Amino acid sequence: MSTVPEFTTELLLDGAWETGHGGTFTSINPSTGLELARVSAADEGDVDRAVHAATRALRGEWKQTPPSRRAALLHRLADLVERDGEILATLEALDMGGLPGVIQGMHIPNLAGSLRYYAGWADKLGGETLPNDGYMGRPAFAYTRREPVGVIAAIVPWNSPMMILGWKLAPALATGNTIIIKPAEDASLSILHIGKLAVEAGFPPGVVQVLPGPGRIVGEALAVHPGVHKVSFTGSTEIGRRIMRNAAGTFKRTTLELGGKSPNIVFDDADLDAAIGGAAAGIMINSGQTCAAGSRVFVHRSVYDAVLDGMRDIAEAQVVGDPFDAATTMGPLVNAAQRDAVMRYIGVGNDEGARLVAGGTAPDGPGCFVRPTVFAGTNEQRIAREEIFGPVATVVPFDTDEEVIRLANDTPYGLAATIWTRDVSRAHTVSAELEAGAVAVNGWSPLAPQLPWGGVKASGLGRELGYEGILANTEPKTVTVIL
Ligand code: NAD
Repeated sequence: MSTVPEFTTELLLDGAWETGHGGTFTSINPSTGLELARVSAADEGDVDRAVHAATRALRGEWKQTPPSRRAALLHRLADLVERDGEILATLEALDMGGLPGVIQGMHIPNLAGSLRYYAGWADKLGGETLPNDGYMGRPAFAYTRREPVGVIAAIVPWNSPMMILGWKLAPALATGNTIIIKPAEDASLSILHIGKLAVEAGFPPGVVQVLPGPGRIVGEALAVHPGVHKVSFTGSTEIGRRIMRNAAGTFKRTTLELGGKSPNIVFDDADLDAAIGGAAAGIMINSGQTCAAGSRVFVHRSVYDAVLDGMRDIAEAQVVGDPFDAATTMGPLVNAAQRDAVMRYIGVGNDEGARLVAGGTAPDGPGCFVRPTVFAGTNEQRIAREEIFGPVATVVPFDTDEEVIRLANDTPYGLAATIWTRDVSRAHTVSAELEAGAVAVNGWSPLAPQLPWGGVKASGLGRELGYEGILANTEPKTVTVIL
């Protein structure tokens, strides 16, 4: 168990820390089942005040802030995130159950990396000069300006909160928007600390605000508020659909990063040790609570038993327990409801006739743990069709490339896919056929600031990261001067 660093539980509204008007909610440490914090919740009135503060900043001081100064502020925030990396990782691990070493070693550098990558863009955003046919016989000079979208609501999930926040925060600020952050109820503490760092970095009041609280109140109020121009949401497909409907009333831009049921395809020519390690990691990292989890593992029939045995051995070797114990390789699920939902799916797998190869149990005790679970099954079973968001893989055999492409695409989702093969031609042809926003060959798609990320089908709409992130946070304006 770790000592709990000092943390903030109030709202960051217009540059000041306030008690919200929506009461409080409790954050539970999922390793112990004990209360960690009582966090102040915003209500609709607080959302309204935050939107007005964000609008004032957008039209006032932030608009006057030169782009190179925006870049300097982003770099300063990245420095502070790195300085407080251990505090941030500890808070997040206590709040949502991730391994602090992974948060500090991967998520913090990713967040700082996003801030620095987009800091580089801040003073390099040009429009285009456009050849044109002129106006009623007169020549015209036309160009585009890339302007901020406006006030952006960032609605964040609990599974990798700081890293995902970085994908929204960094491009929004680099391009001159203001942002209101709504953290998930299960993971507010690290994001509130980032609010503190934004104040310390020197962002003007109203540019970065943090409003914790229930999604159905704070998230909903942001999605319908006429003063919010864009909702950038990461979370479940069901809530994504609801946000899109709510945002339609005022024609808000939306970026929706939703759920997944990603295929992980092992061909017979693959480096099997790498593929087995990758397949196991793909479903066990973050206790399977990863949008891109490789929860459907398709394996060529000639190597099917070898992959299944390898995944079983890795699953059985996992040390499931307190994330702060150095021996632990897999922490808890985020809360008891999530643990119970995952256990129900394991029951469904058993009832549907999938063969349990490893795991399938939840250790006794108050913590929200589930042992990594591997089923030998089919692509038709519910455990292979619905997002479980826990450490449960379904391993399915295939015989031909055409068959596995069909099986991989036979899902409502389309976030990520992984292919294990040594055949370069197969790598490219299969990548082109897969319905997914990101495909990786012989590894997992790196979540890097330079590389666009997002899904197709029920996995979402739009892209974050890379230059796509710049486009998603700006509006092109066409200016034509009749000469
Ligand atoms: P969730 O949809 O329950 O909640 C996400 C956020 O939305 C939270 O902040 C929540 O408070 C808020 N919310 C809830 N109801 C709302 C409403 N009516 N209006 C506005 N906001 C509302 O998701 P979760 O359980 O926090 O996260 C898990 C899900 O997120 C999984 O489906 C996972 O696949 C997905 N996810 C996707 C990506 C990606 O990049 N595609 C990344 C991480 C997680």
